[in-house]
Amino acid sequence: MRKPEPFKIKMVEPIRLIPREERIKALERAGYNPFSLRSDDIFIDLLTDSGTGAMSDRQWAGMMMGDESYAGSRSFYKLEAAAQDIFGYKYIIPAHQGRGAEQILFPQMIKKGQDVLGNMHFDTTMAHIELAGGHAVNLVHERAFDTTTPHPFKGDFDLEKLEDYIKTRGVENIAFLIMTITCNSAGGQPVSMANMRAVSEICKKYGIRVFIDAARFAENAYFIKTREEGYKDKSIKEIVREMFSYAEGFTMSAKKDAIVNMGGLVGIKDDEELYQSTRSIVVPYEGFPTYGGLAGRDIEALAVGLYEGIDEAYLEYRIAQIEYLGNRLIEGGVPIQTPPGGHAIFVDAKKFLPHIPYYQFPAQALANALYIESGIRAVEIGSFLLGRDPETGEQREADMELMRLTIPRRVYTNSHMDYIADSLIALLDKASEIKGVEIEYEPKVLRHFTAKLRPVK
Ligand SMILES: *Cc1c(COP(=O)(O)O)cnc(C)c1O
Repeated sequence: MRKPEPFKIKMVEPIRLIPREERIKALERAGYNPFSLRSDDIFIDLLTDSGTGAMSDRQWAGMMMGDESYAGSRSFYKLEAAAQDIFGYKYIIPAHQGRGAEQILFPQMIKKGQDVLGNMHFDTTMAHIELAGGHAVNLVHERAFDTTTPHPFKGDFDLEKLEDYIKTRGVENIAFLIMTITCNSAGGQPVSMANMRAVSEICKKYGIRVFIDAARFAENAYFIKTREEGYKDKSIKEIVREMFSYAEGFTMSAKKDAIVNMGGLVGIKDDEELYQSTRSIVVPYEGFPTYGGLAGRDIEALAVGLYEGIDEAYLEYRIAQIEYLGNRLIEGGVPIQTPPGGHAIFVDAKKFLPHIPYYQFPAQALANALYIESGIRAVEIGSFLLGRDPETGEQREADMELMRLTIPRRVYTNSHMDYIADSLIALLDKASEIKGVEIEYEPKVLRHFTAKLRPVK
């Protein structure tokens, strides 16, 4: 029997579906780019799961208890104790969000021209590696790109590729390795414990430091518990402890699994030197090391959210909801990345709209059609996001053309999931009428946020 949501609703925020003609006008005003839509024109917003979760009554109560002292805030010590308890690391430094954590940690560890190895780097992670003069190298197993064949751990590193790369490139040219759990860019796909262990052993052999990009650490732990041999009787906390034992530090966007609207963390296992240098860098960028860009009340909510994020009943509901949506879509014939990931469903737009070439951005066209059909906002993860080759200016072709339906935490019910599934299944019949889009205006960097498009004639 399917279990219902393990919470009841104490406060509601009304949402409204504006009429179809208004949706058509709103999308035109937005330059056929859902990023430029106003939230009031959206019925169900699946743009991102970042900072969009619903806080609990305990977290809101915590906000009233926040200690706003500039230095030595009581709320910081509560956060520090929670993070030390969950991750087993000695040093914890707050940051305003994930990229704030990246910005204070990465430049200290990258020499110009060095590589940073990863399964698949998240876009801000890649940006901070490049800003620090490094190159981001992706070594995820190839099966991540085959959306139709399921595998329990599509976020895994290709271990052979990893070792070969280290040997040919040379250890001196590698700054460090970062494991992204779950692997957002591969479709919220988890990394197995066996793979994390093996990666850490290879890195130990060559003297390469290992870090974790920990935004969705709890979802990853839940997948290990339910999919990996030997973990079903372990608690999420025990699994998290083991995962983090294979690294010496982490950066975290707390806007995901820690269920706060804003926040981030740096964790360092025991390297006192790295901790001291990070503590001094955080001051000019984020603020005093006991608040790191956050209000005391935000820190208090984060300390509570870290525990709620690893609660097993919550995680069971969370993953089951994504799976519910995924299964409804699969049954309805919608091509998606399988199995469903931790935080989102990724629709394979290349298969949904085979008549639209990559340079007319099929996933963007599909997101636009979905908005007009039902007021749902999804997001393109494909060639439009990838952008142009910085040298030749040519449009690059992405490995996958995906439309992401990102599910905020504790926000929508399964009735909303049904509406989303019904809307997409209805679009299948009209797929051949959906036209590609072309660029009318684009800025030079990170164009997908503000570009204007138009449907091709
Ligand atoms: C969201 C995210 C980040 C960046 O965090 P922000 O809080 O958005 O700055 C980094 N890595 C991964 C895997 C993420 O999902």
